[in-house]
Amino acid sequence: MARYIFITGGVVSSLGKGLASAALGALLQARGYSVRLRKLDPYLNVDPGTMSPFEHGEVFVTDDGAETDLDLGHYERFTGVAARRTDSISAGRIYSNVLERERRGDYLGRTIQVVPHVTNEIKDYLRIGADETDFMLCEIGGTVGDIEGLPFYEAIRQFIHERPRGQSILMHLTLLPYIAAAGELKTKPTQHSVKELQSIGLAPDVLVCRSEHPIPEREREKIALFCNVRKEHVVAAYDLKSIYEAPLAYHREGLDQAVLDAFGISPAPRPNLARWHDVMDRLDHPEGEVRVAVVGKYTQLEDAYKSIAEALTHGGMANRVKVRAEWIDAEIFEREDPAPFLEPFNAILVPGGFGERGTEGKIRAAQYAREHKVPYLGICLGMQMAVIEAARNVAGMSRAGSEEFESAPGERRFEPVVYHLKEWVQGNESIRRNRDDDKGGSMRLGAYPAVLAAGSKAAEIYGGTTITERHRHRYEVDIRYRDLLEGCGLCFSGLSPDGRLPEIVEWKDHPWFVGVQFHPELKSKPFAPHPLFAGFIRAAIDSERLV
Ligand code: GLN
Repeated sequence: MARYIFITGGVVSSLGKGLASAALGALLQARGYSVRLRKLDPYLNVDPGTMSPFEHGEVFVTDDGAETDLDLGHYERFTGVAARRTDSISAGRIYSNVLERERRGDYLGRTIQVVPHVTNEIKDYLRIGADETDFMLCEIGGTVGDIEGLPFYEAIRQFIHERPRGQSILMHLTLLPYIAAAGELKTKPTQHSVKELQSIGLAPDVLVCRSEHPIPEREREKIALFCNVRKEHVVAAYDLKSIYEAPLAYHREGLDQAVLDAFGISPAPRPNLARWHDVMDRLDHPEGEVRVAVVGKYTQLEDAYKSIAEALTHGGMANRVKVRAEWIDAEIFEREDPAPFLEPFNAILVPGGFGERGTEGKIRAAQYAREHKVPYLGICLGMQMAVIEAARNVAGMSRAGSEEFESAPGERRFEPVVYHLKEWVQGNESIRRNRDDDKGGSMRLGAYPAVLAAGSKAAEIYGGTTITERHRHRYEVDIRYRDLLEGCGLCFSGLSPDGRLPEIVEWKDHPWFVGVQFHPELKSKPFAPHPLFAGFIRAAIDSERLV
């Protein structure tokens, strides 16, 4: 039976709860335990799939096809444990399940209430998979005191109470603000947020205090006293150069020790942190630097391409170089020649995206990369744009485009080399969709296998010919253009097992030009960089324009 660790936050948001949870997961693994991480989000969206990347950052996709919060990406990057659909739960999902049951009459006419119906639904979710892992880490989004978070906190209170003593703990993250005029760290906001927790029946066992300055012993004692936490369980969290420092930094501050101690696990198994020392060694001692242009759309918000940024870093770590990624708004290339912008870069990446805006600019970026033999990695939309570029500028189809860019169904501004897929096969199942299906449901989502052509660059990169990768898209490159485009030198080197869906394309006469219909960035880890990113950065290093 799993031991449960609930992770909450107070004082302000953005304290790095997700990172702390992920790092703790990694540290427990380093001590030989199995872990699973979960995110409970109090917002009312059923899932983050339809939330704008501008507002909420990237949508992380799991193997089993769930569109989840980007924190699940952190969890996977730190622990290597593939997240599942049931590891991301929003209040919207909970309420929608409860209401659906109510409509079906499952509650036999009773009055439906937050307690116990909503809280029971939350507890049912919490229990899923409890017998499969040593530790279940559940992070609650938002900060304590948020109105919509209350059902979650109440469910956790009940859950902890109902389980055997000592089987669940609560770890609370807070901020110790530094008041320069007084030259002091202030503990009051932490005290208040712990009070807030206590008022809803929860008491922290471990306090993680974010601080820009070292926490003096005296302050630690004060926090322990006023917050009813042991002094050794008050753990400092200082700002880090890199997120990958978090496991070692938290270990130094005693987080994993405090957690095991709170569970009464003694003596604690010794940790093996070799993996994280190696990660830090690669990050801290790069032997060179490459510059990568990411030509995208959601360039104002760093989190919108979180996994891509991380996967590029991993690709650098695999090759012991530092990767300087710069985000360029694709729309610029619709007005201006891309050459002066792209010349300083060793490689070009065009990431995924939705909608027509910026796509002509991405097509020009792909054209530049092809013509100037600059390493190119096109991801999802980035592959579709590379194919359209090839069709237009090499195969002579001047009106080549994607059905996604037609404003009305049936409109024909473009010749659709990329079309809206309505039926496909997943395992033994045939899936049918139409354009009007609800927004969350009409995409090819999650892990799908692909078969790579022997002797292709793709097969060389992967070191094999069968792969599975995660998808999130509605549109596909039309296989009917394969012969035409292969005749021009664009090889369809990866296909779905039934041969109907192009999964990877690559230019034959190019040092490294690869487009993939899936999202390799979602599976990259610092200790296991994704081969496509490792290969892409290798090609960037080999490109002659090393800066
Ligand atoms: N908009 C494209 C599609 O739906 C690409 C999606 C993506 O890049 N994730 O097919």
